[in-house]
Amino acid sequence: MNREHTIQKILESLIITIDGPAGSGKSTTASLLAERLGLIYLDTGAMYRAVTYEVLKRGIDPENGEAVSKLSEEIALEPRLIDGELAFYIGDEEMESKIRSPEISKFVSPVSRHTGVRRAMVRLQRKIGNRGGVVVEGRDTGSVVFPHAQVKIFLIADIAKRSERRLEQLRSMGIEQNIEAITENISSRDSIDSNRADSPLLRPPGSILVDTSKLTIEEQVSTIEAAARNEAERISKLKVSPGEKAIFSTMPFYY
Ligand code: C5P
Repeated sequence: MNREHTIQKILESLIITIDGPAGSGKSTTASLLAERLGLIYLDTGAMYRAVTYEVLKRGIDPENGEAVSKLSEEIALEPRLIDGELAFYIGDEEMESKIRSPEISKFVSPVSRHTGVRRAMVRLQRKIGNRGGVVVEGRDTGSVVFPHAQVKIFLIADIAKRSERRLEQLRSMGIEQNIEAITENISSRDSIDSNRADSPLLRPPGSILVDTSKLTIEEQVSTIEAAARNEAERISKLKVSPGEKAIFSTMPFYY
């Protein structure tokens, strides 16, 4: 195997986590990076949004931890790989077109606070990503879900920039909301996400901090791609015996 090929194989086996507050540029960066490196993009926020959709649809109070946790264990939230991209379904109902509304954004943080919800989502996230080959994006993916990830990124940006990005993103989906309401939602979610008892939003140990306030998308993606390539280079130089390899590949994860 030549060197380029070895590096590519290692890149394709990595777990890359990207965490950060709302609107810091995680989704766009993670999906472009995944495409560039040939990895699967896992949007964990979409999973919490799908649970929130179902909570509201069934008229359950988002603050009712017991009912919301029970629901997240019961619903058959299913990832389907369609043309190389993960899409979430509940039964036969496709989620993506239903989970980006201001209504869902309003209730998603109260729903995500509950330990039962987190336990169910983390279990599924590990099932999807444990073998590697993923770019995972969220709030706790480098700290709780995949603490052993080889590349961990923490994205930040100033609030004005984050609100502006969210405005553009919503507009591209045909949703109009004023900038004040967007800033209010982002701040409120950041506060709940950062202060909850279970797996709060925080910068994971060993993560690379990237401030995206003044970066273009291209700069964001290439910064992380360079970090991933460095890590692949480093791994390629490690001497691991076949016995050690076998042990690593069978290590399970528990929540
Ligand atoms: O990433 P996105 O903004 O779509 O996430 C929506 C919400 O889902 C967040 O505000 C947070 O409450 C929750 N979330 C979480 N843990 C994650 C990803 C998202 O609690 N890993």
